[in-house]
Amino acid sequence: MRIIEVKTQAKEELIDITARVREEVFSSNILSGICCVYIPHTTAGVTINENADPSVMEDILMTLRKIVPDSLPYRHSEGNSSAHVKACLVGTSANILIEEAQLSLGTWQGVFFCEFDGPRSRRVFIKTSSS
Ligand code: ZN
Repeated sequence: MRIIEVKTQAKEELIDITARVREEVFSSNILSGICCVYIPHTTAGVTINENADPSVMEDILMTLRKIVPDSLPYRHSEGNSSAHVKACLVGTSANILIEEAQLSLGTWQGVFFCEFDGPRSRRVFIKTSSS
């Protein structure tokens, strides 16, 4: 397993980590297989979506804020329940097929680290295996 460090700069932020995932796949020397990107945090996650227009990520964050308001009567005493719920919604892992030593992402797709309770130092676990 490889670990990449992500230093987030804001409370909520979607960070394109595609290039860093590609580097890990390249250095794994796997021609065909699968790459699992796993986030070992409870207030952060990962998603795959458009990386051509940054407005898409802004819209996703805006929508998550609308769906999961900070103002609900949450019971969790740490005060970051909305971040936990958002992390649940986007999920903690993404699997991408590897073919011809490349990530099989669609033309407009990128891999995004999703911060919901930053800024913090975060980790991303990446495991590749051949098949
Ligand atoms: Zn918490």
